[in-house]
Amino acid sequence: MNNKKVLIMWSLFFLLTFAISYHGQTQAKLEQSTNELKWYKGNTHTHTLNSDGDSFPDEVVKWYRQHGYNFLVITDHNYLTNVDILNQLYGVEGKYLIIKGDEVSDRYGEKPIHLNALNPVYNVLPQGGNDVVETLQNNIDAIREAGAIVHINHPNFRWAISADDLKKTRNCLLVEIYSGHPTVNNLSGGGLPGVEQMWDQVLSSGKLFYGVAVDDMHDLKEPWEPKAAKPGQAWIMVRAKHLKVETILESLETGDFYASTGVELLDYVVDNKGIIIKVKQENQARYTISFYGDGGKILKEEFANSAAYYFKGNEKYVRAKIIDSNGNTAWTQPVMIK
Ligand SMILES: [Zn+2]
Ligand SMILES: [Zn+2]
Repeated sequence: MNNKKVLIMWSLFFLLTFAISYHGQTQAKLEQSTNELKWYKGNTHTHTLNSDGDSFPDEVVKWYRQHGYNFLVITDHNYLTNVDILNQLYGVEGKYLIIKGDEVSDRYGEKPIHLNALNPVYNVLPQGGNDVVETLQNNIDAIREAGAIVHINHPNFRWAISADDLKKTRNCLLVEIYSGHPTVNNLSGGGLPGVEQMWDQVLSSGKLFYGVAVDDMHDLKEPWEPKAAKPGQAWIMVRAKHLKVETILESLETGDFYASTGVELLDYVVDNKGIIIKVKQENQARYTISFYGDGGKILKEEFANSAAYYFKGNEKYVRAKIIDSNGNTAWTQPVMIK
């Protein structure tokens, strides 16, 4: 082999090595960027004219898109709206997604038992039952059977579902802890606990539920009416790799989201040592960050826009709530302490 040939071969070898390593680097970079998690804002409880809402599905879908939401689940009473055409018209890859759903609207006696089926394969109809817990469970099972994930809605609507009822359910991880609907009794009254208090009672028993905040929107046309169930009241921020039905629902069931009525988090880190929270500062607002544990007891409170809590091991669970000086709130999900 002459010198020229050797030179050409070495050049080819170097070129190939460079090409492979360059490809490897770009591949790694690509994987890194697609592995990055993003926050997506969504509402999982919305009505249209397909039940007792006041607007057509497309008007509702447009409103949520125009107001900065990334996903919307349409959940009419016992009706599954086809969202394919809505996604074709208003969906935007990576930006806005409409997810199908229905609000399975059952009752036990006078007590309304409502559960949302998120992304069921078919319309799930009320299953009935011989008491509140059985009615809840029959519907949870039917919703799971339809391949959907499930949240229990407005437990205090007509004071239908108690903390003890919630404790006895199986195979449901989500419950509404705040609703924008004006008559569902989010707060305590007449000696009965508010929904957030009930959430603490359930968590203190060792049973895990993640808390969802929703609009339960019915009234798009006349939101100024005092009893209107308005849009834009309460939502969830879901952390996921992509804006896809599967990834959003997976993050919901693994508790990688927080509920909000206006407080936004810049950072939220949970590991085996503790929880770190950084709030997005809005104007001159001041913040109170509280960490709750066993029995709904406040474990720690910080008057700042960031806070950290380090687990001690005897808390049973730890969750955080952030309230700003204008009344806006965010609730992070409980971390169960083994
Ligand atoms: Zn309902
Ligand atoms: Zn509803």
